[in-house]
Amino acid sequence: MIGKICWTMIKRLKRNRFLILRRIFQAGLLLLFAGANWWGWTLLLGNYSSAYVLQLFYLTDPHAVLQVFATGFIMSADALIGAAIVLLFYALIAGRSFCSWVCPVNMITDLATCLRKRLKITKKENYLNFSRKTRYWVLGLGIILSAVLGVAAFEVINPITMLHRGIIFGFGAGWTIIVALFLFDLLVTEYGWCGHLCPLGAFYSAAGRFSLIKIKHSAENCTLCMKCFSVCHEKQVLQIVGKESGFIKRECSNCGRCIEVCDDNALKYSIYNYKN
Ligand code: SF4
Ligand code: SF4
Repeated sequence: MIGKICWTMIKRLKRNRFLILRRIFQAGLLLLFAGANWWGWTLLLGNYSSAYVLQLFYLTDPHAVLQVFATGFIMSADALIGAAIVLLFYALIAGRSFCSWVCPVNMITDLATCLRKRLKITKKENYLNFSRKTRYWVLGLGIILSAVLGVAAFEVINPITMLHRGIIFGFGAGWTIIVALFLFDLLVTEYGWCGHLCPLGAFYSAAGRFSLIKIKHSAENCTLCMKCFSVCHEKQVLQIVGKESGFIKRECSNCGRCIEVCDDNALKYSIYNYKN
């Protein structure tokens, strides 16, 4: 009996291994930020837009830097170097992993998706259907508005900053944006924020187009069970599944959910081969 329970638990852990790792990573980052403010820790100071790491160097959000550039303001060398480090990391190595492994808002939108599934709300019941390319327009609009208004436009309503600030310093009016975002994903559009609107998702999708870490599909192993489609928040990237072997590109966030649910060993993390 105990053996059976242990075996079931091991199977569950294996099936959710990347999900668990992602949550540890996302919550761990929040804890480090909170620790700096609450207990004086010095491992990670600042926030998701600009963090001072180990009191040695800065990591800066390159999307925020792009907006500040558009306003015409000059940034410090530390901030620019920090943005270059982050951009190069995602562009050359990790792709769009920021969205699934770092961003705290992902925990909120995943919760909405989970609840949607529990309540059996289907895509057909979306109140609003719109193109996944909308996020690229939002990205462009944010830069144009920054230039016109003279302020980093998206940063004014950035839910990542609001969530971080709310958790650490207490929620003011910012909680309305977080709740609105949750309800939007739950009731209005499936994967609405991360999958359709977020300009950071668009930014890192474009930046990470040729990154080294990608999901590799083996069409020979695939039994077309469609389990990967049922968990992927960017289903359009799975168009090669069952048809041809190769790398999953474009808006894939390297979350690894498809690998976890595939029982046929047809998906795995791999190093991108530029010849494919
Ligand atoms: S979960 Fe695996 S076997 Fe099933 S469709 Fe996806 S890649 Fe193919
Ligand atoms: S293809 Fe796999 S790794 Fe990429 S977003 Fe979909 S579930 Fe996540």
